[in-house]
Amino acid sequence: MDTTMVTVKINGSEYPAPRNATILDACTRAGFKVPTLCYCEDVAKNASCAVCVVEVKGAKSLLRSCTACVHEGMEIVTNSPRIRDARKTSVELLLANHPSDCLACLRNQNCELQTLAADLGVRGSRFVRTKKAEKLDTTSPSVHRDPNKCILCGRCIAVCQNVQTVSAIGLSGRGIRTKISTYMEKGLGNVACTYCGQCALVCPTGAIVERDETDEVFEELSNPDKVVIVQTAPAIRVGIGEAMGLEPGSLVTGQMVAALRRLGFRKVFDTQFAADLTILEEGHELIRRLRTNGTLPMITSCSPGWIKFAEHFYPSSLAHLSTCKSPQQMFGAVAKTYYASKTGIDPRNIVVVSVMPCTAKKFEARRPEMMSAFEYWKDKRAWSETDAFYDVDYVLTTRELARMFRETGVRFSSLPSEEFDHPLGESTGAAVIFGATGGVMEAALRTAYEVVTGTPLTNVEFTAVRGMEGLKEASVDMNGTVVKVAVAHTLKNARTLLDQIERGESPYAFIEIMTCPGGCLGGGGQPIPTTWAVRRQRAESLYREDAGKPVRKSHENPHITALYKEFLKEPLGDMSHHLLHTSYERRGLRPWTAGSNGQQHAASVRPAG
Ligand code: SF4
Ligand code: SF4
Ligand code: SF4
Repeated sequence: MDTTMVTVKINGSEYPAPRNATILDACTRAGFKVPTLCYCEDVAKNASCAVCVVEVKGAKSLLRSCTACVHEGMEIVTNSPRIRDARKTSVELLLANHPSDCLACLRNQNCELQTLAADLGVRGSRFVRTKKAEKLDTTSPSVHRDPNKCILCGRCIAVCQNVQTVSAIGLSGRGIRTKISTYMEKGLGNVACTYCGQCALVCPTGAIVERDETDEVFEELSNPDKVVIVQTAPAIRVGIGEAMGLEPGSLVTGQMVAALRRLGFRKVFDTQFAADLTILEEGHELIRRLRTNGTLPMITSCSPGWIKFAEHFYPSSLAHLSTCKSPQQMFGAVAKTYYASKTGIDPRNIVVVSVMPCTAKKFEARRPEMMSAFEYWKDKRAWSETDAFYDVDYVLTTRELARMFRETGVRFSSLPSEEFDHPLGESTGAAVIFGATGGVMEAALRTAYEVVTGTPLTNVEFTAVRGMEGLKEASVDMNGTVVKVAVAHTLKNARTLLDQIERGESPYAFIEIMTCPGGCLGGGGQPIPTTWAVRRQRAESLYREDAGKPVRKSHENPHITALYKEFLKEPLGDMSHHLLHTSYERRGLRPWTAGSNGQQHAASVRPAG
């Protein structure tokens, strides 16, 4: 027998279990489902909800299986009248202080508390309410909090502190006044929150959710004076199927396009077109920095949560960030200039809707500097500030898009596969992999290598930067110059690379940083649950789509070539500088120096059109 294993008895039968496993792990391995609520795989083991209790022979009280460990010969019972009664009582105590608001709740039918109550046969609560109603926190442009739906499981705090190292939220108060709060209760929009939405992704209830923009988008879609176009990020095609009930990681690009057309979008475009454009700009920026002794390492700038993190926590590193806007914002700027000119549509009547895996993109779209198409037209048309519009008007997460499909009865799984519209729907395999950690780096290397060496890459797959390890690195020989690169996902891992830079010890020329675990495919707006197994399935689908694309290098996208020929002229040229590049803001760590808030700025300009 393996010495690292022990034998335990679960419900009368013997099973092997790793020596230090929790009872919950041992039961799961043996095929017994123990209900949980505060426990969240790889994120939180707070033992606060008392739902996962089990009986252990010799123990007087029930044990919380998420934290108690097994030992040789342990005898465990996972289901008995005493256990069921204890679990029901725990859920009833939570429901006593919980609003009966399921029909109006964004987590309706995808709520762990609701499911657990139903599974345990809890129909109400015998207990009286002990808590006062709390105010909603709607200060953030990305995520909203409803403390009344909070069950104090602590998952959000764990992910914010341990995975993102941000600590924007914590526990405040004592006893029945205990709640999740921000510094001085200022609200998420007024503290150093990155708007990553990982707290919403792990929250078991509707206490933290994405800021919902579905009603506004429905309204725009029914306005005949508006040309409403949509762009979809790479990670949506491997997330939306799952949100519509298909297997995790289902690759549904063509069905997604068909469904968006049936929802009423005039044109269905692809953020991947702009991802190819980003590679052209970013690749040339890297080459320029390498050739001119510019600031190195250069760090990618497509992940808006990471950008806000750098602005708060590493303002001295801002010169290392690429000045490229994210693909979402490049798309908006190009749609309301190039595409508007090509089609003769008044840009004030174009409504750009993004579908993103990311809650921070909602904030990014409202950054004051993201109005470059308006700046472009303003002088040409003698428009005033009252004509102002953002490059991107609305940002929907994968979850919001799924709600829109369901609300309108779009029968997703029976739809045919359809193609994106031209020209902003054409992309390469390099753009597809933007959705996975390491993907932007791999896409950039495919282009930078060929531009620098002038020779074609025989193998376009840089496997060293693929996979779910938190930190990855690779060395690429470009005509005798060895370029060292690194990739990090999660802000905790980003800190390792940033601290190296601050100490002057970074050996890298180029770094990719993505805010969320697994990259965009694990973004805060993706379907719930998003586990590591699910992230891997989504990543596999993206790499499969890349492998099947006829063109796999961004600089070979003929529609990007045409965009430069007809409009932008050259990478890093004047037009690119105005439309596709940006600057960053030094924000402090203290709430009163949190910097500009997109929502506040949004109030100062009128809505698009
Ligand atoms: S959080 Fe869950 S239980 Fe509470 S109102 Fe929303 S769906 Fe219902
Ligand atoms: S959005 Fe991200 S940074 Fe903000 S509280 Fe949630 S986990 Fe923390
Ligand atoms: S907000 Fe959600 S994740 Fe955070 S403690 Fe409350 S229920 Fe748990």
